[in-house]
Amino acid sequence: MNCQMRVGTRRIACPAAILAVLMVVAALAGARDKSPAANPPKTQPPRPKLIVLLVVDQMRADYVEKFRDQWTGGLKRLVEEGAWFRDAAHPYAATETCAGHATISTGALPAGHGMISNEWFDRELQETVTCTDDSKVKNLGYAGASVTGGNSAIKMLVPAFADELKFQSGSGTRVVTFSLKARAAITMGGRLGDAVTWFDADVGAWTTSSAYPVAAFVEEFTKAHPVAGDYGKTWAPMLPASAYLYDATAIGAVPPAGFGAAFPHPLRGNPNSTGPDPVFYCQWEASPYADTYLTRIAETAVDKLELGARAGTDFLAVSYSSVDYVGHAFGPRSWEIQDVLARLDQDLAELFAHLDKNVGKGNYVVALSADHGVVPIPEDMQKSGIDAGWLSVESVKERIEKSLEPFNYAKPAVAKVGASAVYFTPGTYDKLKNHPAALRAVLEAIQSAPGVAHVYRAEELEDRSSTQSRMLKAEAAGFLKARSGDLLIVPKAYWPWDSSTPTSPRQYGTTHGTPHYYDQRVPVLLMGFGVQPGEYFRSITPADIAPTLAALCGITLAPRDGRVLDEALKNSSARPVAPRHAQAPSPKQR
Ligand SMILES: [Zn+2]
Ligand SMILES: [Zn+2]
Repeated sequence: MNCQMRVGTRRIACPAAILAVLMVVAALAGARDKSPAANPPKTQPPRPKLIVLLVVDQMRADYVEKFRDQWTGGLKRLVEEGAWFRDAAHPYAATETCAGHATISTGALPAGHGMISNEWFDRELQETVTCTDDSKVKNLGYAGASVTGGNSAIKMLVPAFADELKFQSGSGTRVVTFSLKARAAITMGGRLGDAVTWFDADVGAWTTSSAYPVAAFVEEFTKAHPVAGDYGKTWAPMLPASAYLYDATAIGAVPPAGFGAAFPHPLRGNPNSTGPDPVFYCQWEASPYADTYLTRIAETAVDKLELGARAGTDFLAVSYSSVDYVGHAFGPRSWEIQDVLARLDQDLAELFAHLDKNVGKGNYVVALSADHGVVPIPEDMQKSGIDAGWLSVESVKERIEKSLEPFNYAKPAVAKVGASAVYFTPGTYDKLKNHPAALRAVLEAIQSAPGVAHVYRAEELEDRSSTQSRMLKAEAAGFLKARSGDLLIVPKAYWPWDSSTPTSPRQYGTTHGTPHYYDQRVPVLLMGFGVQPGEYFRSITPADIAPTLAALCGITLAPRDGRVLDEALKNSSARPVAPRHAQAPSPKQR
């Protein structure tokens, strides 16, 4: 959702020394990549040869129910040959990318893994930090690109499943992750990832950081296949017009710069540019071409590193970010969302065919989920007569400041309002806690803002007791005292946050990040090694994915909020999966 905001803040070049280091490390990584592979075992292995974790950023669970009859490829295969959990939801409040990916990748909830949101206010630094900021590392651009900043998993307080797999199995496990977003690639790859790669749209560069090895195959692939190769393409509908469920122009959509309100969407950047520019890279991120690119580079990883073909269990994770960019722009009731998923279905068909061929059907296990869902565009909800709107960050901030005027508090009293959290300036909240009349005034002022449902105080959330309300429980599951706000605000249903200010208009059509079910509910699909196909209606959470993969691999996760999804696992001596159509007909096969 920040792509349009990133445009115009083009970053400066990094020193030549970093590039030199990059090239040396790339050469070393290349040497490692070429070491001889062990022969693949001839019988069914006792453990999966490859774990494939797929996260579709912002994929609502109901997309599976609504669109699966139109799918013919990999998404269809997951539904028909896999275990489909139909009632899965993240159980915490800050339903954001970093929190969701870290939950899926660790099996812990944000209160435990510490990635409480995409960014938070650091009280020591007195500034906002992102979940992957790390001043001790430097980002490194592939294919000669110059990037800035530093990102790592330093703020993730528990190991990723991939870290544990690598650490415990001790047999040359390789960990490879890809996403457009650093916060997705890094949370999935943990601290020990061998190739952790994301995309910097400011400069159109595939990127890693000095926290990870530079991968020779990524260097080679990104050089041979620059994203700029998609410049000038036009994204047009793939399905016949009659197949789309909603209007061709989504009500309230805020498309990326250079895209119109409806198809077709040409990827040509700024109207006056003659080649790829930051606007083009943002358009590309919000197009199905990015999903295809991620699929191809993942297949290349399988080939070049011989993932799943040596001793031990390897780990490959891809977070497909484009659904999130498309959803923020056009909303869940759009041709664009339906289309980008129909195309992802084709990409996943290709990926699974590649894995069948190179790793062997039944030798790998796939887990697909999403980091969060999304709320329908409020203007669209309003048209149908439902109470909906935008909850303004600015308005909450102003109301708090105003409420403290009669009590003579120093201005500003608020350091930051963001991710449903209010952070006061140093000392202010301690003072408020001993000043009931002023605190009451603040809470009442927040409650008076249009769209606010609840306000919780930090001290209410520290004890995760079992007698709390669902909303309080959800806030507590994501609460970490050192990082969370002094006050936590829950918007009313269908009232997403509007972060616009008088000088910067809102750059998204809709968003997510609340404890409402449309933001929390996501698909969970498992397929392959050890998985018992079928539909499962028991209520689960995506924190159950890592413990389930750990059970299949015979490793132990230390901090764990999820459980093993034993109902969808075969007996421990796993057999190759028979396709569902070879079994008793299922009522869902319409
Ligand atoms: Zn996301
Ligand atoms: Zn998003």
